[in-house]
Amino acid sequence: MFRPTLTWATAILTLLLSVNCLASRKLLVFLIDGFRYDYMDDLQNLPGFKEIVDNGVKVDYLTPDFPSLSYPNYYSLMTGRYCEVHQMTGNYMWDQGSLKEFIIGTNQDSRLPMWWEGSEPIWVTMQKLGKKVFMYYWPGCEVKILGVRSSYCEEYVYNPTEKNLSDSIDNALNALRSGKADMAAVYYEKIDVEGHHHGPMSSQVKTAVQRLDVAFQALNQKIKEKNLRDELNVIMFSDHGMTDLEWMEKVIELDRTINMSDIVKMMDRGPVVSLWPKKAKYEEVYRALSSVRNMNVYRKNEIPDRFHYKGGKFVSSLTLVADPGWFITESKSKLPFWQNNSSPEPEGWQHGWHGYDNEFVDMRGFFLAQGPDFKKNVRAAPIRAVDVYNLMCKTLGIRPLPNNGSWSRVEYLLNGSVSLACSIWTFILLVLVWSL
Ligand SMILES: [Zn+2]
Repeated sequence: MFRPTLTWATAILTLLLSVNCLASRKLLVFLIDGFRYDYMDDLQNLPGFKEIVDNGVKVDYLTPDFPSLSYPNYYSLMTGRYCEVHQMTGNYMWDQGSLKEFIIGTNQDSRLPMWWEGSEPIWVTMQKLGKKVFMYYWPGCEVKILGVRSSYCEEYVYNPTEKNLSDSIDNALNALRSGKADMAAVYYEKIDVEGHHHGPMSSQVKTAVQRLDVAFQALNQKIKEKNLRDELNVIMFSDHGMTDLEWMEKVIELDRTINMSDIVKMMDRGPVVSLWPKKAKYEEVYRALSSVRNMNVYRKNEIPDRFHYKGGKFVSSLTLVADPGWFITESKSKLPFWQNNSSPEPEGWQHGWHGYDNEFVDMRGFFLAQGPDFKKNVRAAPIRAVDVYNLMCKTLGIRPLPNNGSWSRVEYLLNGSVSLACSIWTFILLVLVWSL
């Protein structure tokens, strides 16, 4: 028997169900460069962080992708793919075909799409879907990727100030609240800079973390004032950690073992170095470097599978990876900040570095999230850099592209309110349809 009222009710409920199950919320993301997982251990003295932890989820740590460097992990976080898949395999890269170089920071050739189009980052997907992303100092927002730029890009500058950070937070919250932005992303570099200059356990890092905490206290306050608590998710993470560097004692100088004129190209110094030897000298260079202590030398096919690195198209024919705390360079005298004088510490001396094996404990980063889609006051097991992308997609209500993240590692972080609501609606709907 035809019962129009129930049919209409069913139609309306179906509509409500579909709207509710596709519910998407606004997202504010923070990328805090070089923030090691244990920098917030003293939570009692970090009220901004503590409030976020109490109101949200904290994982024990975030394992970066290999190499535990910035650009590779920026992209693993924003694409959910390993470095060998998204192709951003270093802070310094060389394309043997075009002879173009990618250099960390502001560099014209680094803006070439070739470095960025190995995979589509989440902000490009959002823009393609007609949603708007506002980005502040975020490396890469200045680049047109797959023909797309974010709706707003405050271009990267070296080491944005605390004022830059607090202005970015204000502007991001206003853009999200007014509906101009669906997602906002803020990058902050200070913690990494202090970690390099003074070491991870230095008072300078501690001070920088406390100042960041002040900015997060203000963030928490503004989220409350602007009534955004129930509609805005906030996710914060770092790209990698930091370890102490005993530079004076633990330097591997390549020119003591090989003739540098046998090398066509060398990219980067530090924990990971890329070498392209002359073809005729390849075996000789490889054999010589194999005898060097405190580092590993890999032919491309020998790079461990667990690094998910060797398939990258910009990966060199030889890759050198230093043991934790060691630093590889051509020669101490060639370091740009090396001054051959009697001063105990040359200007620009570094006390911290990262880039090592991504399973090395000191390379671990952090991950926190709060908002309507996340559990409250929950401590969870570790996740990996590639896992973050699926979470962002889920809270934004967009379908993730194929990726290397594991949903089972992050599902627990969500409070399940969306799926519970969907279940209730589905149950009501089934009862109604059954009674027709
Ligand atoms: Zn760094």
